[in-house]
Amino acid sequence: MTTPSSLSQQALHDLSLHALSGALASKQVSATEVAQHFLQRMQEHTALGAFVDVRPEVTLAQAAAADARLAQGNGGALEGLPIAHKDIFVTRDFATTAGSRMLKDYRSPFDATVVAKLASSGMVTLGKLNCDEFAMGSSNENSAIAPVGFDAAQPVRNPWDTQRVPGGSSGGSAVAVAARLTPAATGTDTGGSIRQPAAFCGITGIKPTYGRASRYGMVAFASSLDQAGPMARSAQDCALLLSALCGPDLDRDATSIDLPAEDYSRQLNDSIEGLRIGVPKEFFGEGLADDVRTHIDSALAEYEKLGARLVPISLPRTELSIPVYYIIAPAEASSNLSRFDGVKFGHRAAQYGDLADMYQKTRSEGFGDEVQRRIMIGTYVLSHGYYDAYYLQAQKIRRMIADDFQNAFKECDVIAGPVAPTVAWKLGAMSDDPVANYLADIFTLPGSLAGLPGMSLPVGFASASADRGMPIGMQLIGNYFQEARLLNLAHRFQQTTDFHRAKPAGI
Ligand code: GLN
Repeated sequence: MTTPSSLSQQALHDLSLHALSGALASKQVSATEVAQHFLQRMQEHTALGAFVDVRPEVTLAQAAAADARLAQGNGGALEGLPIAHKDIFVTRDFATTAGSRMLKDYRSPFDATVVAKLASSGMVTLGKLNCDEFAMGSSNENSAIAPVGFDAAQPVRNPWDTQRVPGGSSGGSAVAVAARLTPAATGTDTGGSIRQPAAFCGITGIKPTYGRASRYGMVAFASSLDQAGPMARSAQDCALLLSALCGPDLDRDATSIDLPAEDYSRQLNDSIEGLRIGVPKEFFGEGLADDVRTHIDSALAEYEKLGARLVPISLPRTELSIPVYYIIAPAEASSNLSRFDGVKFGHRAAQYGDLADMYQKTRSEGFGDEVQRRIMIGTYVLSHGYYDAYYLQAQKIRRMIADDFQNAFKECDVIAGPVAPTVAWKLGAMSDDPVANYLADIFTLPGSLAGLPGMSLPVGFASASADRGMPIGMQLIGNYFQEARLLNLAHRFQQTTDFHRAKPAGI
C-alpha cells in the first residue's frame, strides 16, 4: 500500500469528511488509497462486529471510477469519500439482510434511493453495517446475521467498552464511525435508531423531517415513522451528507416531500444570538442518570455562553409516547412484514405440508424473537374489536403529541434534552426484558411520532465509577424542515468543544 508523503496512514482515518475531501481534491491522496486504508482497518477491527458484508473488488472499482473523475477535475465535494450503509438499505452490489435470517441470502436488483444518491455524488461504498433485525431494537443484540470475521451472529460491540451495547438499531453504523472504520455511515431512525446509537458511541447523527429523505429501498419497518439520515463524527460532516441524501423522490415514495434539499454546509455559521432553546421538564425527571443530567446541563450552559436563551417548556405527553409508539410501530410492522411469506422474498422452510404450514414454518424460522413479538402485538392491536381500543386511540394521542410540540414551538426555536436516560448498558443486561428496553426510548419517541427532525451530538463522558468514560449525547429537536438550524447549533457547540474528537482507547 502506498503512503502519500504528506499524510500518514494513521492520519487518514482520523480525518473528517471535509479534510479528506480537501486531501482528495489536492491529490495528496487518491480515492483508491483511502478505500484501501479503510478496508484494511476494517479487517483489523472485525471483533467489533460492525460490518456484515464487504466486497473489496466492488469498493475498489468504485474508488477507481472516482479517481478517474477526480483526475478530470469534475468531482463534487463528496467525490471519492468512503461511506458504509446500514444493512436496511437495499444494495445491488452488496448483500441486503436487514439483520434477518429471512433475507440471509437476498440480493436486491436495485439500489435504495439514498444509496444511489450518495453513489452519484461520487461516494465509495465500503460495505454494509450490522443492525437489529428489521431495525427493531435499541441495542443491536437482535441481529441474526454473522458479522464479517464470524461464523455465527454476534452482538455488535461498543468501542468505548466492548462489554457494552452500541445502541440500536443502527448500532453497526455508530460503531464503524466511532471506531474510525469509515468516516461516515447511513442510518435509519424510526423511534430513535440514529440518535440513540450516535449518543451511545459518542458520534453525531441527524434524522431529518419525515419525508425529507426517500424511503424507497429502505426495508420497511413502520412506514409512517421510518426515516434515513447520516451518522458521522461532526455536524459539519453530517451537513455535507444530508444535502446529498435528501430530496424529493415523488415517483417512488408516496410520502416523499416535494422540497429540494438545502445546502446545509452553507448555513453552518449562522449566529445563535438570542435563539430560544426550549428545555422540556419531562425530559429531566426521575430515571435520568445523574451523569447524563450533569452533562446536558453543562452543554446548555455552554449554549447560553454562545448567546442562546434557555426557556422552560413542557411536553406533557412524553410518557405516553412509549405505549403509543409500541402500538403504532408494531401495527405497521405486522403489515409490512406480511410480504415475507416464503413465496416472494428470501427464506422458505425446507420441509412443509400444505400452504399454511409453509407460511408458518417459514415465518417461525425466518423471524427472530423480537420481530415475532412485534408481529403478534401489531396483529392484535389491528384486529377486530381491538382496533378502536388500541390502534385508533394511539393515533389520536399521536396527533396530540405532535400538537404539544407545536405549542412548545410558540415559545422556543429549538428543543434540547437528553437522547437517552442512561449511557450504553452492558451486553445482555436488558435482553430478557423487552419492556425495560422500550422504556429507554422515551426521549426519542416523541419527536419521531411528530415527524420532526432530531439530532444527537456528543456532550461529555460519564464519570460515575460504574459507567466511567462512556459517551453522553444531547438531543436537539427542531420544527419541521429546520435541519439547518439543528446542524448549525450542533456545529457551534463543536467549534468550542472537543467531545466529538475524542477516541476510544485502542482505536
Ligand atoms: N428502539 C426503537 C424500536 O425498537 C426504535 C428503533 C428504530 O428507530 N428503528 O422500535
